[in-house]
Amino acid sequence: MSFEIRKIGVVGAGQMGCGIAQVSAAAGFEVLLNDISAERIEAGIARIGANLGRQVDRGGMTDGEREATLARIKPALGFSALANADLAMEAASENEEVKRAIFNDLCAHLKPEAIVATNTSSISITRLGSATDRPGRFIGIHFMNPVPRMQLVELIRGIATEDDTFAAAKVFIEKLHKTVTVSEDFPAFIVNRILLPMINEAIYTLYEGVGSVDAIDTAMRLGANHPMGPLQLADFIGLDTCLSVMQVLHEGLADSKYRPCPLLVKYVEAGWLGRKTQRGFYDYRSGAPIPTR
Ligand code: NAD
Repeated sequence: MSFEIRKIGVVGAGQMGCGIAQVSAAAGFEVLLNDISAERIEAGIARIGANLGRQVDRGGMTDGEREATLARIKPALGFSALANADLAMEAASENEEVKRAIFNDLCAHLKPEAIVATNTSSISITRLGSATDRPGRFIGIHFMNPVPRMQLVELIRGIATEDDTFAAAKVFIEKLHKTVTVSEDFPAFIVNRILLPMINEAIYTLYEGVGSVDAIDTAMRLGANHPMGPLQLADFIGLDTCLSVMQVLHEGLADSKYRPCPLLVKYVEAGWLGRKTQRGFYDYRSGAPIPTR
């Protein structure tokens, strides 16, 4: 009988952390939601409430279920509030220094048997695990965005990850009614190893003037049957996250084919990070997205 996960601590109440908190609570898990300030946690809980509200409107959940789900999510400011968690799910910014600092502070507050997981899109699980006091109980649980709608979760073992940790994480994902795919611990794993170079290539296509934002997105939506154009998808993921994944691929695999497009770097330097800042390859400030090129 492997270790059973009942209570989830989520570190980072951004788009992914909120999604993970939402689906976990909807599946009956108790959730402790952590971020760097009470305001961010409150904003996260409000965002989850609004998402669940839309689910009720679409007939996917009753009002009572929405309330019960929200009641299972508690604000948890400070890592000491995660002391009872069976699983601490890190979904903070895609920055290795930030994540290492979190693991360094967090682990001292957790139960010795608690599992620590990261939602990183690209960083080495083995390396992040070594920043914890429990590499054997550390694992990559990589949810896709938006968490409530995407079926797949990648599970990634670090070199030290124990079988019991893997088994408990797999059971947790299955209780969320999601499908597990297993990836080895290589830069960006499977989905982003394939997806991000395509997005980066779309940005090069824009940078080189082959097509406009609209032309590129229309081409891939109607010509390759992608549900979203690659630049629209980049805005949705967050351009800072896209850049960070490309940097990890470029450094980790030392191949020039992964060179981040200079135009992506420029957008990130401008603080145009996509939907979350209201501007990226599209400008969302007036409602309908307007291409910025
Ligand atoms: P985000 O910017 O929306 O949210 C990150 C949150 O982490 C912010 O609320 C921030 O305040 C918080 N945070 C930063 N430092 C913290 C700390 N020390 N303690 C607690 N909270 C802290 O980012 P996101 O898109 O939700 O991404 C989170 C993680 O999920 C990243 O590792 C990213 O690579 C990964 N991911 C993202 C996507 C995507 O499409 N955006 C998909 C899969 C995985």
